[in-house]
Amino acid sequence: MQLRLYDTLTREKRPFVPLDPKHVRMYVCGPTVYDFAHIGNARPVIVFDVLFRLLRHLAKQGVWDDGKGETKVTYVRNITDVDDKINDRAARDFPGLPLNEAIRKVTEVTERQFHEDVDALGALRPTVEPRATEHIAEMRAIIEKLVEGGFAYVAEDHVLFSPQAMNAANKVLPRYGALANRSLDEMIAGARVDVAPYKRDVTDFVLWKPSKPGEPSWPSPAGIKSEGRPGWHIECSAMAWKHLGEQFDIHGGGIDLVFPHHENELAQSCCAFHEARMANTWMHNGFLQVEGEKMSKSLGNFFTIRDLLKDWPGEVLRFQMLMTHYRSPIDWTRHSTEQAAVALDSFQHITRTVDAEHGTVSEDVLSALSDDLNTSQAIAALHSLAAKGRAGDYRAASDLKATCDFLGFTLKGVGLQDILRRQKSDIDADQVNTLIAERAAARARKDFRESDRIRDELAAMGVVLKDGKGADGKPVTTWEIAR
Ligand code: AMP
Ligand code: ZN
Repeated sequence: MQLRLYDTLTREKRPFVPLDPKHVRMYVCGPTVYDFAHIGNARPVIVFDVLFRLLRHLAKQGVWDDGKGETKVTYVRNITDVDDKINDRAARDFPGLPLNEAIRKVTEVTERQFHEDVDALGALRPTVEPRATEHIAEMRAIIEKLVEGGFAYVAEDHVLFSPQAMNAANKVLPRYGALANRSLDEMIAGARVDVAPYKRDVTDFVLWKPSKPGEPSWPSPAGIKSEGRPGWHIECSAMAWKHLGEQFDIHGGGIDLVFPHHENELAQSCCAFHEARMANTWMHNGFLQVEGEKMSKSLGNFFTIRDLLKDWPGEVLRFQMLMTHYRSPIDWTRHSTEQAAVALDSFQHITRTVDAEHGTVSEDVLSALSDDLNTSQAIAALHSLAAKGRAGDYRAASDLKATCDFLGFTLKGVGLQDILRRQKSDIDADQVNTLIAERAAARARKDFRESDRIRDELAAMGVVLKDGKGADGKPVTTWEIAR
């Protein structure tokens, strides 16, 4: 089975071949820790967790080291703990404290909340979770290399990177703009009019800047006397270098990070290390919107992971996220949450008497995931196993359990009754399911008077039915509590 991944830089799906067959290396941009993470932030966490699980599985099978199974997989996801939004939050929430102390409180609390939330979503902890503030020395070192190489310059206590200098340099380097598929001319044409006076060109970006009084600050690079702080992009170049080296296999994040963040990371790292590439494969997840609209607090459709975890088990949210291919946009709806809940409830039923040890991870699921992480196809394969398991095939049910384990679904506490308990509803899920089955039987024998009566009976209990199709194309009825 050949793993193939879509690369944003070359815009094609390519066979994945690790640069070092003994060590697969992946970097994913992590959260800026100033507030609860929202459900959009959960998308890269879940998507790259599935990729991490797949890479570990393939490594153990020995696909990259001639069957020896000794390939190590290192997954780095950083924590951005220096940022204006953090400073603002610290000043607002802890006005009596010195700013540095207040910032530490904000970042510690938010980091802990983030971990609790993504643990609940079934995401494994990355191998390394570096904090930006612990890598200032590496940032300074890269900045010094860039200034020495003529790719960056000092102006008014700032250090700025020059994309023009990069594109004028030798042929080894990639072209600035290649990742975002834009030319420098286009960027110049689209640049803001009020360009900072210390920039030579409109497209120059900040590597280092002076700190205002009271803000976090560190000794500056490149002979600047006053203390300062790093720009955002340099943080990831430094952390990736420290933990993965000058070049590595996969760099991931949300599609919004392609430009400027990843374009600039790539420019910094390639110019500092005189390399043609930073990561061999650049992967970006599509955006998530809610009920057909961009998530926003003013529209009332802004959900933190924490909000949703009050009503739904994390596994349901994880399953819902994976129902869509990672590169497509997701419309996050209550209806699809319910679909996910119904699917996991049925998997739980089918596998409750089996032992995962008796099963193996489904080859169909592995081959779907190996095709650029096609999780929707993997879920269709789970439904096929479930259909066989429902028909009494013990082996299929055991494989379903083993595959769910592999994908991060424990199938514990995901029964509809558990969910209703969590939602503090007194509806009896077993009774609802029995009535739905009776209604389906009535419809099958064309007794529509009876099927309508059952629908009304359920409506009187506060249950709304939705008739649709399952992943296997067969009719399925899902239900929700009337609001
Ligand atoms: P941020 O904290 O905004 O830097 O985002 C952290 C991660 O979440 C980045 O990889 C973003 O690309 C990703 N992200 C933010 N909003 C969304 C969204 N609505 N849908 C999908 N990914 C998102
Ligand atoms: Zn980053």
